[in-house]
Amino acid sequence: MSDCLFCRIVAGEVPADVVAANESAIAFRDITPVAPKHSLVIPREHYANLVEVAAAAPGTVTAMIQLAGEVAAAEGIAHDGYRLVANTGAAAHQTVFHAHLHVLGGRSMGWPPG
Ligand code: AMP
Ligand code: ZN
Repeated sequence: MSDCLFCRIVAGEVPADVVAANESAIAFRDITPVAPKHSLVIPREHYANLVEVAAAAPGTVTAMIQLAGEVAAAEGIAHDGYRLVANTGAAAHQTVFHAHLHVLGGRSMGWPPG
């Protein structure tokens, strides 16, 4: 989708600080981090949210989670722990409607989330 920011990152039309990638997904640092380590994992194909990825391409969900694990290891947060977040829909604070997983770590996390 030419009007989708994350599709434009996949296409190389918008720069991103890429941390890791595999055949189905790309991980790059969030431009407005809310934790010391904050990356996004997105599918190369456009889907509006993670549930739509699961419905259409379940293998891509697995690839995204595997990549999130690689990001956590590369960022040094795998041992202490990290949070995977998939905001789904406007009420959950999804602002970019191309599926993504937040990989958040480097500090203690509160619960419940805001
Ligand atoms: P969400 O609110 O769950 O839809 O998350 C979207 C995320 O995308 C936010 O954390 C933004 O900071 C991040 N974001 C927006 N534009 C960019 C960009 N050009 N590069 C990296 N991250 C971005
Ligand atoms: Zn897209």
